[in-house]
Amino acid sequence: MKPEPVTPGDELAGRRVRKDRRVAIALYVVGMLVLFGSLAGFMFDQYQRDMQAARERTAARADLVAEWVGSTFSASDFLLSDVSEQLQPPWRQRLFGEPLDPAMVEDFLIQHRQRLDLVDEVNLVGPEGRILASSSSLYPQGFDMSGLPFHSAFESRPELSGWVTPLFWSALAARHLVVHARRLPDGQGLAMVELDPGVFGQALERLSLARGQSIAIIDTEMHLIARRPRLDDDEPLAALGVTIDEPQTEAFIESGEARVHLRTASPLDGDERIYTLRRINGLPFVVVVGEKASILLGGWMYRLWVRILIGLAVMGLGWLALRHYLNRLRLEEEVRQQVRERELARRDARATEAQLRIAATAFETHLGMLITDRDSRILKVNDTFTRITGYTEAEVVGRNPRLLSSGLHDEAFYRRLWRGVLRTDSWQGEVWNRRKNGEVFPEWLTLSAVRNAAGKTTHFVATFSDLTERKAAEKEIHQLAFFDPLTGLPNRRLMLDRLEVALKDSYRSGKFGALLFLDLDHFKQVNDTLGHHAGDQLLQEVAHRLEGVLRDTDTVARLGSDEFAVLLYDLRGDVEEVAVIAERVANKLLAVMQAPLRLGEESLSVSISIGLTLYRGHEATLDEILQQADMALFQAKAAGRNALAFFDPEMQVRLQARARLEADLRQALPNGELRLHYQPQVDERGAVIGVEALLRWQHPVRGLVSPGEFIPLAEENRLIVPIGHWVLETACRQLAAWTEDPARAALSLSVNVSPRQFREPDFVKRVLEILEATGAPACLLKLEVTESLLLEARDEARRRMLELRERGVRFALDDFGTGYSSLAYLKRLPLDQLKIDQSFVRDLLEDEASEAIVASTLALAQSLQLEVVAEGVESSPQRVWLVVHGCRVLQGYLFGRPVPVEDL
Ligand code: C2E
Ligand code: MG
Ligand code: MG
Repeated sequence: MKPEPVTPGDELAGRRVRKDRRVAIALYVVGMLVLFGSLAGFMFDQYQRDMQAARERTAARADLVAEWVGSTFSASDFLLSDVSEQLQPPWRQRLFGEPLDPAMVEDFLIQHRQRLDLVDEVNLVGPEGRILASSSSLYPQGFDMSGLPFHSAFESRPELSGWVTPLFWSALAARHLVVHARRLPDGQGLAMVELDPGVFGQALERLSLARGQSIAIIDTEMHLIARRPRLDDDEPLAALGVTIDEPQTEAFIESGEARVHLRTASPLDGDERIYTLRRINGLPFVVVVGEKASILLGGWMYRLWVRILIGLAVMGLGWLALRHYLNRLRLEEEVRQQVRERELARRDARATEAQLRIAATAFETHLGMLITDRDSRILKVNDTFTRITGYTEAEVVGRNPRLLSSGLHDEAFYRRLWRGVLRTDSWQGEVWNRRKNGEVFPEWLTLSAVRNAAGKTTHFVATFSDLTERKAAEKEIHQLAFFDPLTGLPNRRLMLDRLEVALKDSYRSGKFGALLFLDLDHFKQVNDTLGHHAGDQLLQEVAHRLEGVLRDTDTVARLGSDEFAVLLYDLRGDVEEVAVIAERVANKLLAVMQAPLRLGEESLSVSISIGLTLYRGHEATLDEILQQADMALFQAKAAGRNALAFFDPEMQVRLQARARLEADLRQALPNGELRLHYQPQVDERGAVIGVEALLRWQHPVRGLVSPGEFIPLAEENRLIVPIGHWVLETACRQLAAWTEDPARAALSLSVNVSPRQFREPDFVKRVLEILEATGAPACLLKLEVTESLLLEARDEARRRMLELRERGVRFALDDFGTGYSSLAYLKRLPLDQLKIDQSFVRDLLEDEASEAIVASTLALAQSLQLEVVAEGVESSPQRVWLVVHGCRVLQGYLFGRPVPVEDL
């Protein structure tokens, strides 16, 4: 594997090493090529030189031999010319006489034969080719020689003066011969000598021969004349006449060239030789000198081998050096590689260590962690795992995570889980597991598969967080969002949700349901008198009682302070039947409240008012149903509390009108639509002693609206406070104005004060401020309060009254006789006047009961030293009766209607 480069420097070094290796190998190869090339060149040159030297040597030797052979025939030629000359006059007559003496000629020839060793015989041949004379006894005179080749040569070529024959076989002499002939002048014939070719052999014998050298003399007809070394050591003439069969030699002889160098195998002994062939001038002979190639090249071959061996040795040494160098390079490279690997390993180790540290840190998170092998055997868990499950690492390692199973999930659940992991390598979801202590808890689990480089799953990693606290928090939030913290009942929101669902169900099933709004009567009093804690207890008890009456399937909800709602579902039957059922439930609710309730020391009885409406399907919208229940409740309250009222559409119209009125009323004060009318109060003689200020609302559309219509509304929505303030201020200003007018300066002014207004914390302060600001005399101001004041917060009311009374303000009890009228309290309050309600005055003369009440009231007032005002006096008989029975002050249409101040 190619090592991974660590740095650019390493990469460079690696490249350098590879280059060095290539250069070294190249140098070596080139070196060897040069070495062997020059060696080959040198050896080739040596070879050429050796060959050249051999050629020169053989040529020199051939020249020598040729010279020698030539000189031999010069000698024979000289002998022939000598013979020829001596056969001419004047020598002819002197020597041989005239005519010739054949014996003397024969002697003469014999003498000449003895002059030269190589000459065997000397003959004279006549022009016809017959022997004239001969030194040999073999040739008698007249012996025909015309058949011999030299004769015909002379015959056919007249210009030819002398000629030497190639070797030929003489049958007569029974041996090989060479004939040298010479033409005699004047057609006298020929002189000829027979030469012994063996002489050449003997001459060659005298030459020294180097080893492997050969010298041969052949004739132009390819017959061997002599040869060294001998063909047969015992027979010197064995070579004579042997026919040579060698095509290059033959070609040379035919070419007529003087000399040639050949390299060929000897046809005689088969040895390969370097030859020089040399023609002998004017003679039919060729000298062949050879040197044996094997010997000739032996030295060269030896030198060649020596040099090859040296070359090989150099090559081997070079190779060793190269190998050594390459090894060193490889070693260097290996060392570098090792250094690099070590560096990489160090780096890897550092990276791995860092990763391990990160992994270890990551492992100890707030999440529980668990690692298993691919067979789901636990390998490792973290501290959080232990904290959540209660199992230590030692307890779970090697075990299957199944030990945490809660048993709450079925097989299919785990199958789905593992399918998820195998398909996408991870799964997330909520799982219920069991702690070591047996507690079952919810966790959010993430399960991941770990794969190796080959893609095979090796481990599984599970991380999880304990959802117990989150679940609890969720539950708490849910509780807060949908339940009333005090009673634990569903709150308004949940009730609305359920109603919405109930409407849908009802639409499907066609069944009726009922919505009941419940309101505690006089809850406010309990709160004010006994404190909020008691109020809370009361509400809890009420909730408890309500729940006790209802089925589990019904819904009881707390909507607000003392308001509850009950939702009944799935009521069977037609509308009348269902109404009966609902009414029965409502009555049970009313009844369960009857029992006295203990709050600490106190025991009190509470009552509720119930408004009830029925719903079915989409006959009414959710808002309409709520409105209907609300209206019914209002009706129940109006009916005198502790009552049940069904929603009735007529009432809806009235309530809608009321809602519009309320909206308009809010604008009345800022729009300046309020007026004060004044009604006189007279004494028994009819003299006006005071007036009552009565509020009027000049509505832009409705015209004058009576206070009976809008005062209760204003009281409900607290508008009465600013309105009452305005009334008091306007009245006081009027009172102050009257002080200027002597005719009216003594008139008292009565102003109605609503209980709500009176209960305002700064009421006293405000009244005093107004008196101050307007300058109205406090003693002429009379505040009319109602009996309801006596019911609620009696002590506080008394305190305030006393405070104002100290400043001179007086009090009248309005509408006396209609309310609780507890005489015991009456006594304790700082009152100045009782106003008998006009309903009694109206019935006075027709109803004995009314008469009795009025009479006893007058008596009572007298005993309490209170002034009595009769309201609503419309007729003189009424006036008479009242005056007769001791009523001092009268008020009514009989004396004057409430009118604007101008009309007073
Ligand atoms: P009230 O204080 O009892 O006032 C007397 C009511 O009897 C007045 O009605 C008056 O017009 C009427 N009345 C007087 N003489 C006769 C008569 O001979 N025959 C008949 N049938 N009625 C007579 P009004 O003005 O409609 O006021 C009704 C009630 O509204 C008052 O009853 C009082 O409780 C309340 N009210 C009026 N003005 C104010 C006000 O400024 N503040 C407060 N808080 N309440 C007021
Ligand atoms: Mg009044
Ligand atoms: Mg009144």
